[in-house]
Amino acid sequence: MSETITNDTATQYQAPADLLKEKVILITGAGDGIGRVAAKTFAAHGATVILLGRTVPKLEAVYDEIEAAGGAKPAILPVDLSEVRWEELEYLAQGVDQEFGRLDGLLHNAGVLGQRTPMANYHYATWQQVMQINVNAAFGLTKAMLPLLEESKAGSVIFTGSGVGLKGRAYWGAYAVSKFATEGMMQTLADEVDGVSNIRVNSINPGATRTNMRAVAYPAEDPASVTTPEDIMPTYLYLMGDDSVGVNGKQFNAQG
Ligand code: NAP
Repeated sequence: MSETITNDTATQYQAPADLLKEKVILITGAGDGIGRVAAKTFAAHGATVILLGRTVPKLEAVYDEIEAAGGAKPAILPVDLSEVRWEELEYLAQGVDQEFGRLDGLLHNAGVLGQRTPMANYHYATWQQVMQINVNAAFGLTKAMLPLLEESKAGSVIFTGSGVGLKGRAYWGAYAVSKFATEGMMQTLADEVDGVSNIRVNSINPGATRTNMRAVAYPAEDPASVTTPEDIMPTYLYLMGDDSVGVNGKQFNAQG
């Protein structure tokens, strides 16, 4: 990380109310957990948000909450990333172009946990599904959206990592491996765009955050003792807004 931009720059960021005015931002997994709160937070800071997810009623609930709060009219993209084909992703990008004519931000947030078990017992089909949703779909969506992001004055791509994607841990299986791959994808793309594009690419490790995924991974934990998605939003806002222009290829820990 450069001398002036530290992890604290992001975690302690205080976003102006209109930070994301006139920006169009796509969030995957926008119907629940961190993605839901990120979508609402981006909208509250002026963005038009595109809500991508697999459970339409959840996306509709987020849509309604954003409209009720006076946010710009969102869009809903019902997509199951476990099944999505390349042609569909290209079609989605065409749809975003036709509807909005631009894309300024892409938050890869959707993810699945898979099994918590030794690799010797890990189901092959589950392994493939985790890699498909957490890695392959994020690659495909990025590739499809890159031409639109290139047209933005300052396009921001954020990948979502994890502590187990920075240091491997027993029994985290495909999830840990997928998050290592996610950091690799972030670094590879960041190096490709460096100095030749207005796009910047970074990753956020949310840290332990109070969501369904966390509750499944740690069933004995009291959810009330865990940081809320709202608490980690400064890092998301910092990286999505123009105050982070020039920050590229960095891994951030949203809880410091
Ligand atoms: P979550 O509450 O389980 O939410 C995950 C979101 O991804 C949901 O909206 C879910 O949709 C969506 N999703 C899952 N499979 C999908 C598919 N096949 N197609 C489309 N959307 C799909 O999890 P979270 O805790 O908010 O996690 C968000 C991100 O943060 C993930 O990448 C996770 O790995 C990462 N993370 C979380 C923590 C934590 O402590 N919570 C820590 C480190 C990293 P449905 O609601 O319809 O299932």
